[in-house]
Amino acid sequence: MKQITNRLHQISLGAVNAFVLKDDGLTLIDTGLPGSTDKIFKALQKEGKNPSDIKRIILTHLHTDHAGNAADIKRRVNARVYAHQLDAQLLEKGISSRPMTLTPGLTNRFIYQLFIKSAGDSVQPVAVEEQLTDNDVIPLAGGIRVIHTPGHSAGHVALLLQSEGVLIAGDICAHVVGLAYSTLYEDITVGKQSILKAAGFSFDKAVFGHGHLLHDEAANRKMAAKFS
Ligand SMILES: [Zn+2]
Ligand SMILES: [Zn+2]
Repeated sequence: MKQITNRLHQISLGAVNAFVLKDDGLTLIDTGLPGSTDKIFKALQKEGKNPSDIKRIILTHLHTDHAGNAADIKRRVNARVYAHQLDAQLLEKGISSRPMTLTPGLTNRFIYQLFIKSAGDSVQPVAVEEQLTDNDVIPLAGGIRVIHTPGHSAGHVALLLQSEGVLIAGDICAHVVGLAYSTLYEDITVGKQSILKAAGFSFDKAVFGHGHLLHDEAANRKMAAKFS
């Protein structure tokens, strides 16, 4: 695990990241591809954290590489699941994607062939107790602001840890080799608007579903400049 702030750690699961927030027990943000539960639990234990302290799972969006173990972890630790209502409706039926278009470029074709194609578009159905909407504030860690950021998926949310100055960006864009559009979007025009919407908030760190920490005094302005 990589420490991002006092309360937030990043768990690298190969091609995708999950996050754990410590406040009132543990909150897991995203869950990796199916079959990653033990890897997540071991990462927590290595840091002296007890997986059974996971009280809630917040999903940035419905894709298999983020929601892959939500049902499994929920069952094992009895956690409540949070997701935007538009993605929650599908996740409750075990559907984990809508039709998407590949972002132009060789790298994207490569990533798609290598990692995404095999992930599939279904997961174990999972009950979502907390259906999120734009501007909700989850009362944890000084307030987690929910920013509805459609485009990559209709029910995508970015999460702003207001007191920590961190944006959990999910897949609104990626930061693998520099900031770049994600490999796939349901609607890249809407996706671009969402990146700019999120970048309009104040934060100096951003973490991503794919890639590494963006740590800059003005991470928000960097994102805005890159995608304007
Ligand atoms: Zn995604
Ligand atoms: Zn992803």
